[in-house]
Amino acid sequence: MNKAVVELIGVDKDYGGHRALANISLTVADGEFLSLLGPSGCGKTTLLRLIGGFEDCTRGQLLLDGRIMDRVPPEKRAVNTVFQNYALFPHMTVFDNIAFGLRMAKKGTDDIRQAVHQALELVELAGMAHRKPAELSGGQQQRVAIARAIVNKPRVLLLDEPLSALDHRLRKQMQKELKQLQRTLGITFLLVTHDQDEAFAMSDRVVVMQQGRIEQIGTPMEIYEEPVNLYVARFVGDINVLDGVIREQTGSTTFIALVEGAVVRLRSNRALNLGQSIHVLLRPEDFRLELEQDIAQSRDLSAKFQQARLKGTVRRIFYHGATYDVEVSLESGTRVQVTEFFDDDSDNLYFKPGDSVALGWHEGWEVVLPHE
Ligand code: ATP
Repeated sequence: MNKAVVELIGVDKDYGGHRALANISLTVADGEFLSLLGPSGCGKTTLLRLIGGFEDCTRGQLLLDGRIMDRVPPEKRAVNTVFQNYALFPHMTVFDNIAFGLRMAKKGTDDIRQAVHQALELVELAGMAHRKPAELSGGQQQRVAIARAIVNKPRVLLLDEPLSALDHRLRKQMQKELKQLQRTLGITFLLVTHDQDEAFAMSDRVVVMQQGRIEQIGTPMEIYEEPVNLYVARFVGDINVLDGVIREQTGSTTFIALVEGAVVRLRSNRALNLGQSIHVLLRPEDFRLELEQDIAQSRDLSAKFQQARLKGTVRRIFYHGATYDVEVSLESGTRVQVTEFFDDDSDNLYFKPGDSVALGWHEGWEVVLPHE
């Protein structure tokens, strides 16, 4: 990991009797793109405001570039913020909006002109310097807000839901552009979002939060593939939860008896005890689904199921364009969701409601969590 730029050590933030942040410890590396992900009210914005200097920590320490930030005001921190509503000055031109901070810092006119034009080029608004914010689209206003925040080359850029006002298409485009800009500038970006897709698409690491606490920190892949608890697993995508107990353990192999009836072999590094109740988590795309009649006709198909097969009936189909979801009710009554991809040579749905099916998955694709 690069040198630490932002360090929080055991930070609490109380508002009156309400604890908005509890025991937050987090290190953000130089040049890293880190997202704070969580539902409304979990403390994401509060965390950004502490780093930006708009709030004080109730307990614990915040360091920027190794320096303790107690009582250091926002303007003395090498940190800028892009707010959700952009907060542009409506009566000023794009140029003046971007130049504002540099003028306050008493920079020379030539330096200001050069820095503003460079920032405008980076956000691809070179021809718009003399417009007012009202003469720009939402996406363009967003770029001005970003240009203004990067013009004095901060060490850290804080972005509080910066894309939430944009429509879906523009949002996707801006995600790519922001990521590219961050790579070009090498500035550390800290993004607040409640959108898992956005966090995954842009970030080196994601911090998943709940009720003022950090639940998990990891790369997008770690968070998706190895969630540490059900909350994280559910927050970052659809998940099927099967229940079982530890039946047998031999060396690194564990056998689980699922409530659904099947016995499943696992390779789990977790310390699990015989008889312990556990959840087996599988993403909809982890399942392999077959028609019962196909399995009966072909032995080869059984090779696809290195795991026990679960039997069930197709209940509903949800078409999504590139994929479709098949809702299956298992013999035990549990409902699971399976994502199916279209075959190369067909755009027909292979399954229909009422079909008898079997489903399995490859050994090791499941996540095993002890009951909480
Ligand atoms: P959202 O996604 O809705 O912006 P968030 O995750 O950013 O939510 P915060 O704005 O950090 O959440 O709020 C965390 C908690 O602290 C909430 O319960 C909120 O009501 C409370 N809170 C935030 N600011 C204050 C304040 N100035 N005074 C009192 N309580 C506050």
